[in-house]
Amino acid sequence: MKLTIIGTGYVGLVTGACFAEVGHRVVCVDNDAAKVKTLQEGGIPIYEPGLDELVTKNTASGRLEFTVSTAEGVAKSDVVFIAVPTPPQPDGSVDLSFIEKVAREIAGAMTSYKIIVDKSTVPVKTGDKVAETIKRYCKAQVDFDVVSNPEFLREGFAVEDLMKPDRVVIGVRSQRPVAAMREIFEQFNAPIVVTDINSAELIKHASNSFLALKISYINAISVLCEAAGANVQEVAAGMGMDTRIGRRFLNAGLGFGGSCFPKDLSAFIKIAEQVGLDFRLLKEVQRINAGQMDRFIKKITDTVWVLKDKKLGVLGLAFKQNTDDVRQSPAIELCQRLQKEGASLRVHDPKAMDKARAVLTGVTFVDDMNDVAEGCDALVVATEWDEFKKLDLDRARRALSHPIMFDGRNLFDPAEMEQRGWIYKSVGR
Ligand code: NAD
Repeated sequence: MKLTIIGTGYVGLVTGACFAEVGHRVVCVDNDAAKVKTLQEGGIPIYEPGLDELVTKNTASGRLEFTVSTAEGVAKSDVVFIAVPTPPQPDGSVDLSFIEKVAREIAGAMTSYKIIVDKSTVPVKTGDKVAETIKRYCKAQVDFDVVSNPEFLREGFAVEDLMKPDRVVIGVRSQRPVAAMREIFEQFNAPIVVTDINSAELIKHASNSFLALKISYINAISVLCEAAGANVQEVAAGMGMDTRIGRRFLNAGLGFGGSCFPKDLSAFIKIAEQVGLDFRLLKEVQRINAGQMDRFIKKITDTVWVLKDKKLGVLGLAFKQNTDDVRQSPAIELCQRLQKEGASLRVHDPKAMDKARAVLTGVTFVDDMNDVAEGCDALVVATEWDEFKKLDLDRARRALSHPIMFDGRNLFDPAEMEQRGWIYKSVGR
């Protein structure tokens, strides 16, 4: 099928590449001319495992192309996906101006029937607004359908998640676009949930809020574990074997961050507020999440005492492993708070150094993780990169003035660390 995706970011680019990979012809549109130029010249503006190969292969085959022109994208396709940002406003509600602008642009360019699919995460009832806007701004007065198709990919595993989704949600107002939507996703062999648009939009916010809740739940348990001398990982393992609960997302640590969970949670609280529901459960999820960072910093100052004039080595800047994304990264927040207390920092991340340079100033960026500890008073693990488990611990111990490690992601075994001579503090153990 001929598909267009407007917004070529983490969601749009990976979706475009995966659609092309299963045989569709895809036009990816972005209004960031520099990004489009990079893509046209064979560069990839984001890091996502496996994405480089997919984009290169499908661009070469002519199934994937890039442009800055929404009009060109709309002209070339029957189905137009919207994957632009839906950032939070200061009060927590969603800024829908990107969606509204794209809806107007699509409307202005339509000369025949189109299916307009919203992939961005939006508040319930946004589909209605998109439909109204398109109707209002479509000069040609052609027919169209608006569909909701929320995206559930995890950054760091985006290609895998798109190629093998747990489910595909399709929200429609009539049956007319259903066959085309099924055809688009046929090759992905996933269960397809066809529902109304409002339910589809709610599925996304309800899912992300639930996952955030699961993380805060285990983080609250980690506080209990520390007080009781229990081990949160053992507790999570025991709980997770119950198939009604499941082990995933039961990882205690510095708390969740990233461009989705914090904003989707605040958005959902606002959405509930607008219909008169005070969603206090989710407010508590936010409170516990913020508390994890405070408690971790206290753990550092309890041991190191005054941070002024101390040098700390920080491993990890991305908001989680396998990505270069630092948007709302707990690791960045931690660095900034430690800096505020007067600490100087040596930092390293396997993939996120370039993006971190734009938001983190006054730190020393270190290329090799094994050099981070050089001349530091303590080491801090802030992101759960697997490769940090391969850190040369003996070398790090020698490089530090004292062998102290604060592990915000529980990457190492406490007993083993102690045996190797470390003062080792982790979360909930
Ligand atoms: P992003 O910032 O990485 O990408 C968005 C892109 O849209 C940018 O490249 C931007 O230049 C482009 N853009 C903005 N306005 C435009 C316009 N008028 N015309 C053309 N292009 C335009 O954002 P993202 O992370 O891909 O997120 C997009 C949406 O998907 C958001 O609603 C987000 O909540 C949702 N989502 C994100 C993820 C994720 O893991 N990143 C997962 C699921 C859902």
